[in-house]
Amino acid sequence: MRGGSFILKQEEKRLNYFLTPDQETIRELARKIAEEKVRPVRGELDEKEEFPWEIMRICAESGLFGVSIEEEYGGFGGGELENCLAVEELSRVCLGVATSYAASGLGAHPIILYGSAEQKKKYLPDIAKGKRLAAFGLTEADAGSDAGAIRTTATRKEDGYLLNGTKQWITNGGEAEIYTIIAITDRSKGPRGASAFIVEKGAPGFEFGKKEKKMGIRASATRELIFQDCFVRKENRIAREGMGFIVTMRTFDRTRPGVGAQGVGIAQGALDEAVRYAREREQFGRKIISFQAVQHILADMATQVEAARALVYSVARYIDQEKDPKEISKVSGMAKVFASDVAMRVTTDAVQIFGGYGYMREYPVEKMMRDAKILQIYEGTNQIQRNVIGQELSKEYASKK
Ligand SMILES: Cc1cc2nc3c(=O)[nH]c(=O)nc-3n(C[C@H](O)[C@H](O)[C@H](O)COP(=O)(O)OP(=O)(O)OC[C@H]3O[C@@H](n4cnc5c(N)ncnc54)[C@H](O)[C@@H]3O)c2cc1C
Repeated sequence: MRGGSFILKQEEKRLNYFLTPDQETIRELARKIAEEKVRPVRGELDEKEEFPWEIMRICAESGLFGVSIEEEYGGFGGGELENCLAVEELSRVCLGVATSYAASGLGAHPIILYGSAEQKKKYLPDIAKGKRLAAFGLTEADAGSDAGAIRTTATRKEDGYLLNGTKQWITNGGEAEIYTIIAITDRSKGPRGASAFIVEKGAPGFEFGKKEKKMGIRASATRELIFQDCFVRKENRIAREGMGFIVTMRTFDRTRPGVGAQGVGIAQGALDEAVRYAREREQFGRKIISFQAVQHILADMATQVEAARALVYSVARYIDQEKDPKEISKVSGMAKVFASDVAMRVTTDAVQIFGGYGYMREYPVEKMMRDAKILQIYEGTNQIQRNVIGQELSKEYASKK
């Protein structure tokens, strides 16, 4: 895959987001890893559908897995904005790698938000150091958007629970060692009938099923988790029994800006490629960037990328700075919807700028377009996000009467 090793000086011309020196350091670190280590292998990882273990090791050594984990547990002590900065830079070069990285943060979030002191002490230091990857398991074959339809059960026993059921399409499945799993503890209680658990790879009764072959983000692993009478000690239940869906919703509220950051990153990467190509490609004896029609496409791409970045950073900052932020679901959904739609449009436009070459695997933009699609689907589809935003709006205006 072509695309060369280049870092555009374009950042210097970006809006100033007034990042702190520490935040700049995280961004630079992630960018350096992305440019020097990920760019040379992204085509091969995609082609071979190979999990990026070497890159994960480099991220671990550089401390990148700890950016939003408290210092007390070996992390950097940052929040969602720090996470977004790291995710954006990795996504700019390869969304498959970025997804593998981000999914560990998703798996850790239930422990960060609701874990007991013992659970945090036991699991977070390893996750922060990248010694063990994490994953989050909610989805099942018949329970996607309708999370309440999950069938995996956790039956209470004397000292713990027996888990039975199959989770589907779990990112980092098989590669991660720490899994946060949502299972039904009492179906009669409806939304209060699920609980969250920590299950470790290697636990008796916990196996991995089919590894999926995907359209995009092919470097990331997407796999079934199969539980057959898998015993989980009660110390490994996160929060009180019945809190499973609350743990899930609060987790997604905080991680969705990170999906937005994936969108910003991949869209920026596609814009970089498109501008560079348009400056080189000649037709009718002129560089194609001299055609105003091409300039307008590029102008719209750049405007959308910057708007998405501004929204994602603002929402991440809001979540980090407010002690008890209200309406997170609405704004984090907005960041996810807007930036992922931008990612799909901008990567598609990048293919258009490349013309027929854009359709070829030799150039990076076709991978970007395939990769971007997942952002409109996972962590709650964009239709579901719009439902949430719409419902929140309706409630807000009802209370303003
Ligand atoms: C590559 C990949 C990685 C993933 N990683 C994880 C993971 O790590 N952990 C995990 O738990 N899950 C994971 N998922 C699952 C993902 O979150 C679900 O795919 C997603 O929530 C949608 O569920 P579904 O695919 O069953 O679609 P469905 O819910 O069946 O939806 C199908 C279509 O109907 C629409 N729809 C459904 N209900 C409504 C409604 N009420 N209003 C309007 N439209 C609606 C949807 O928007 C969609 O367009 C992953 C999925 C993929 C593909």
